[in-house]
Amino acid sequence: MTNMQAAEVRTTCPYCGVGCGVLAKVAADGEVSVRGDPDHPANFGRLCSKGSALAETLGLEERLLHPEIRGRRAGWDEALDLVASTFSGTIAEHGPDSAAFYVSGQLLTEDYYVANKLMKGFIGSANIDTNSRLCMASSVAGHRRAFGSDTVPGTYEDLELADLVVLVGSNLAWCHPVLYQRIAAAKEKRPGMKVVLVDPRRTMTADIADLHLAIAPDGDVALFLGLLAFLAEREALDRAYIAAHTTGFEEALAAASELGMAEIARRSGLDEEMLLRFFALFAETPKTVTVYSQGVNQSASGTDKVNAIINCHLATGRIGRPGAGPFSVTGQPNAMGGREVGGLANMLAAHMEIENPVHRDRVRRFWNAPTVAEKPGLKAVDMFRAVADGRIKALWIMATNPVDSMPDADVVEAAIKVCPFVVVSDVSAEADTIRHAHVKLPAAAWGEKDGTVTNSERRISRQRPFLPMPGEARPDWWIIAEVGKRMGFEEAFSHTSPAEIFAEHAALSGFENGGERDFDIGVHADVGAGAYEELEPFQWPAPATGSTPLWPAGHLPLKGGDQPASAVSPIAGVAEGATRLKLPISPLEGEMAGRPEGSGGDFTQSSITPTPARRADPLLKGERKAASRFFADGGFYTLDRKARFVAVGPTAETRPGDEYPLILNTGRVRDHWHTMTRTGQSPRLSQHLAEPFVEIHPADAARRGIGDADIVRVSSTRGDVLVRALLTGRQRQGSVFAPMHWTDRFSSRGRIDALVAPLTDAISGQPALKHAAVRTEKF
Ligand code: SF4
Repeated sequence: MTNMQAAEVRTTCPYCGVGCGVLAKVAADGEVSVRGDPDHPANFGRLCSKGSALAETLGLEERLLHPEIRGRRAGWDEALDLVASTFSGTIAEHGPDSAAFYVSGQLLTEDYYVANKLMKGFIGSANIDTNSRLCMASSVAGHRRAFGSDTVPGTYEDLELADLVVLVGSNLAWCHPVLYQRIAAAKEKRPGMKVVLVDPRRTMTADIADLHLAIAPDGDVALFLGLLAFLAEREALDRAYIAAHTTGFEEALAAASELGMAEIARRSGLDEEMLLRFFALFAETPKTVTVYSQGVNQSASGTDKVNAIINCHLATGRIGRPGAGPFSVTGQPNAMGGREVGGLANMLAAHMEIENPVHRDRVRRFWNAPTVAEKPGLKAVDMFRAVADGRIKALWIMATNPVDSMPDADVVEAAIKVCPFVVVSDVSAEADTIRHAHVKLPAAAWGEKDGTVTNSERRISRQRPFLPMPGEARPDWWIIAEVGKRMGFEEAFSHTSPAEIFAEHAALSGFENGGERDFDIGVHADVGAGAYEELEPFQWPAPATGSTPLWPAGHLPLKGGDQPASAVSPIAGVAEGATRLKLPISPLEGEMAGRPEGSGGDFTQSSITPTPARRADPLLKGERKAASRFFADGGFYTLDRKARFVAVGPTAETRPGDEYPLILNTGRVRDHWHTMTRTGQSPRLSQHLAEPFVEIHPADAARRGIGDADIVRVSSTRGDVLVRALLTGRQRQGSVFAPMHWTDRFSSRGRIDALVAPLTDAISGQPALKHAAVRTEKF
């Protein structure tokens, strides 16, 4: 190893949910360079444009470097004392639910854990929600309805092993570029592999698609209801799997069969020939993965969309085995880590349920907390409504910029302005939200932070620091813990390192969990301080490592796990060792190689025949033994261990009216991230698309007298923006697309989320950020 290599620090990209490994190096002159980590199993050395430009986004020009109180510089003690005393006083006078934390998928798991512990266990309210609500809450709700837990069954290798990848509402090429590259590479190696893109827009992802279904906005439920009915009609179901491992199939099929083909075509906006091509392809391809992201989740029917997709996989037994499964990919780097520690207002830590008194009592005793919130808290949209109407009087916003990113953004800004006490802890001193804070707390940034994140395939990776914290910046976990101590909870928030917090999190995930059926997933890593520092990327559930725990013995039981012995090749066909979640799977002729000991007939991931090297591995033997014991009676996380079909009905249709006749779809561009507080610093990244725009079909533009590159006003009942018109046949007629990134700092009147009404999915609370009624006119 050269000196140059020795100076490289292994860390993880802070952007999307792919969770790529990054090697960062600081030269003698202080210049930082990054490259992809060739040994990280998410990216095997690849980085996309955003990841490659990370070193260009580390400048301190816009950093918040010192605590501030009402516009003047303050010391940490004064600021923390004020935050603690104001929250304590507000809670004493108005009750716990008068306080709220709005946090972020940008937080590290350790930050998230401490914030959740303080709010749910010690303040006694569940008013902690996260911008991940805007990203994947519908997938969480759909998973819980189907599997009994928030479970992503698959692994990235499944995308390479599949014979058919269906991408629904997912512009993978721009939003999860390294996953796109992995699929493209697998397809190049194995040209018989098919890709179907389901998206109203012909995005760049269509470049690898064999079939593009330009679906009508929110036509997805009808599409997958039609698919389920087709599979039944053509006898393409796995009846044995349905009978052995699921409940509710007949009701789900009855609901799906209500729509005839003509109605499915009308609702989906696709002609029958196109529909039948897709249905037939799905029916005849056992190794199918359906990937879905924000196009599915950010909808008033998002949870039903998720379950309509999962229903098709359960009905064909295509889940839990190599190259098959429904696969939600998250937008943010640590949406999954936040889910694991209870960062959503309706969940407890370690995937336990807030409505379950046994879970509440378990968490309360583990934390030695005075109480645990007894009911779900306010989800993001409702939380800001409560800020607006005065129910929430003390609000702490961490690492996010809701004034620009929330739907109905102008109303959210107005609410924050009138809130009696607003704390913002952030990296940027310039973001639109922090301008309204009474107390500003400087947080550590990527490159300075130390902790873990979990990517979309349940892989936990370390973010490691390679730069000193500038000015008086501090880690988020430290800031939250200091406030907790000052609120009188000295012992519970005495953490001195992220390693300690991670060990506590890991311990809670296994606490009193031996053999219980109502909670049996979580992080099961026995991690001491040294092991934490050296922690290799791993997927949960993971076996204990045997290192010395920081937490008292007995809190870290060895759990069923199936950890790969080493990283695997990125290309399909050599996928030994990937960790699919242990679900009952259907034997697929010629593909299954063995059965787990004592499995009672269910195949699990651990049943894959090990290579000779793995057979000899004592750890693997332990895993197999533990797995056999734990999954002896099946696999899903419901009381009867069976998955649930959900009888999804057709989505209520909302038609645009004459005044606002177009459907606005919001999303990301290739080279920017969220509200550009980081990527906006890189001129190179801004070269790709330099200003806010709206994509509009030429026919829609012609009807309005709009030419290419004209400035247009896009307006809704909530507000209006001025943006550049981009005319493109890639856009579906009747709908327009605009990116979410630009704020008033980077353009005048470009805040697109100010146009989006605060309409949410009734089950998940996720806003319908892809479906706002608008009109466009030349400015
Ligand atoms: Fe970062 Fe996502 Fe790009 Fe990977 S694909 S480098 S995680 S932005």
